[in-house]
Amino acid sequence: MSECVLCRETVTNPLCPDCISEGIEQWLKESGLPSYAPTVTGVEGEQCIRCDKKIDVCLYCHTKQIYEWLKERKTSKLLLREFVDFFHFDLDKKGLLSDEGFV
Ligand SMILES: [Zn+2]
Ligand SMILES: [Zn+2]
Repeated sequence: MSECVLCRETVTNPLCPDCISEGIEQWLKESGLPSYAPTVTGVEGEQCIRCDKKIDVCLYCHTKQIYEWLKERKTSKLLLREFVDFFHFDLDKKGLLSDEGFV
């Protein structure tokens, strides 16, 4: 199994950040936001089931990065909330929502 380069947890997502980002890109476009380019590039890891790229970041860290990026851009709380709701990537960690006082 791969390890996330950011949080050192086992990566369980079968898709690489690029492939996951396709859905996010779509959402960004529909929400009138600029597109986001993933910044972390991998060394070791499982291969993406879709494009064969190495997966080096877990879903949580990947979406967290985008979330932070959205916050830096002063994205409205409504859109931040929608992002979390829509992608459900926080899963068991509850970090994003509690950070913002949503829960
Ligand atoms: Zn991680
Ligand atoms: Zn991929």
